[in-house]
Amino acid sequence: MSDCIFCKIAAKQIPAGVVYEDENMLCFKDINPSAPVHLLLIPKKHIDSLAHLEGGDAALVAEMMLKVPQIAAANGLTHGFKTQINTGKGGGQEVFHLHIHILGRPA
Ligand code: 5GP
Ligand code: ZN
Repeated sequence: MSDCIFCKIAAKQIPAGVVYEDENMLCFKDINPSAPVHLLLIPKKHIDSLAHLEGGDAALVAEMMLKVPQIAAANGLTHGFKTQINTGKGGGQEVFHLHIHILGRPA
């Protein structure tokens, strides 16, 4: 997806405040935060949205979900956090590369 901004961030073609990275996913600071801590967790593989997941993505999605609380805690959200996944234009999705918003206020 050559015109996808999050693919470009994953490929390090566009800078971002990366807070976590492994082989399959990347987590970085939202450029326009709506909370004191506002992170976006993306798969490195391009997937348009939650509605575009396929059966073969099950392990990847599980891996990402398991990482969310770890990343949240590592960024000061030790007493809780919110997650949000906007899906499709009707769901407020603006960037069509699957991402999990992680939001909160450090304890
Ligand atoms: P959506 O509405 O698609 O769920 O949210 C997209 C999010 O991506 C928004 O919160 C927006 O601020 C963030 N965003 C858009 N472009 C960039 C970018 O180039 N860099 C970073 N770090 N965040 C971005
Ligand atoms: Zn992409």
